[in-house]
Amino acid sequence: MPVPDIRIDLSETERAIQKTAHRFAAEVLRPAGEALDKLSAEEAIAEGSILYDVHAKYRELGLSDVDPDLTPLETARMSAIVSEELSWGDVGLAISCGVSGMAPNLAMLSGNPDLIEKFPRDRIGCWAGTEPNHGSDFVDMDERNVAPGATLPRPDCIATRDGNGFRISGQKSAWVSNGTIAEQAALYCGYRDEETSGFGVFLVDLTTEGVSRGKPTEKIGQRPLNQGEIFFDGVYVPADHMVVPPEAYAEGGNATLTMANSSMGISFAGVAKAAFDLALDYSKTRIQGGIPIIQHQSVKARIFTMYRKVEAARALAWNTYLANLAGPTPDITAAIASKVTCTQTAFEVASDALQIFGGNGISKEYPIEKIMRDARISMIEDGCNETLGLIAGSRLAAE
Ligand SMILES: Cc1cc2nc3c(=O)[nH]c(=O)nc-3n(C[C@H](O)[C@H](O)[C@H](O)COP(=O)(O)OP(=O)(O)OC[C@H]3O[C@@H](n4cnc5c(N)ncnc54)[C@H](O)[C@@H]3O)c2cc1C
Repeated sequence: MPVPDIRIDLSETERAIQKTAHRFAAEVLRPAGEALDKLSAEEAIAEGSILYDVHAKYRELGLSDVDPDLTPLETARMSAIVSEELSWGDVGLAISCGVSGMAPNLAMLSGNPDLIEKFPRDRIGCWAGTEPNHGSDFVDMDERNVAPGATLPRPDCIATRDGNGFRISGQKSAWVSNGTIAEQAALYCGYRDEETSGFGVFLVDLTTEGVSRGKPTEKIGQRPLNQGEIFFDGVYVPADHMVVPPEAYAEGGNATLTMANSSMGISFAGVAKAAFDLALDYSKTRIQGGIPIIQHQSVKARIFTMYRKVEAARALAWNTYLANLAGPTPDITAAIASKVTCTQTAFEVASDALQIFGGNGISKEYPIEKIMRDARISMIEDGCNETLGLIAGSRLAAE
């Protein structure tokens, strides 16, 4: 028996979407994620990989479609429901599908019909931000964590003015999600012209001449999520592909981080719930001492602690996501609080779940060790939790 959902305010339509997303998560994402997890990073992205079927089915279901008739709040509620459920199934695949929406979302925000047509939702996309020499520094958009007197090294990837457009040269880090398979990018990079030295955001078709890729990154968790370097060698983009100019970069970058961290909160609340559900089921069927292990006091207490952490994370993630996607003033501090809390919770709950599985917990025959690996790397993803905490703390100190 699943634990009843304490979220009682979902409409009939929202419940139906939740059901569809949950079925897709359970029947497609969970098994595909487990299969991809066992492959090498190269095999996972080879032609014919189940990874591409997942993307195709995700699009077929219309889970990423934007309905112009919905209010911002209704849109945010729908996407929160879908993200939580998909991440419950497999968070790496959920993120692979979700981050593909980044370039089309920016195209929509630009209001430019040409960009909307050139950067459609049916292509795999990425957020190309971090660089070999700019990881935590990239996330620190206002340079709040730069030590007094220190200077940051030059960006590894720079767009320069070239007539009516830009030429992009340099590289992005091995951590760009979908990096070696993406067909289009929301590229956040350095910007130079005769008067300006700063940063900008560009929409880039990655099938353009001059783009090449590194090897897909081998890593311990979220292995179904492809990651890898992207290299740019004088790649030309037209002028209107700069969607955030240097003077608006700090604000635009912080808005992106606010959305990204709010999404991470929802996703990893879903991961925490997945670990809890598996542990609860297992504890009711595994017999030791002559009774199901959940009847032993310490297991019962552990299960309750997990439950309370999961529901606290879900509540914070949901409130933050709705406030930041549909509220009047998106708040980066709240987004960071949600990301840090939910990723930390996912890791703690997955670790507790593994303990409940005993020896089976550490076996690859059971799903829990993968969820723990997936949760572990989330504490680095979209900003290390401690550096995000410093950014949020310095904002609180300044208020
Ligand atoms: C699963 C996953 C998905 C990702 N997806 C993307 C993506 O789609 N696009 C993208 O662009 N990037 C992506 N990243 C990159 C991610 O944003 C960076 O890994 C992260 O910001 C940390 O940067 P770094 O790895 O270079 O670590 P570093 O910045 O080198 O940090 C190393 C250590 O030093 C600490 N540290 C660094 N600076 C400070 C400071 N000022 N004060 C105190 N401590 C500090 C950090 O907390 C950390 O413990 C992803 C990463 C992961 C793991």
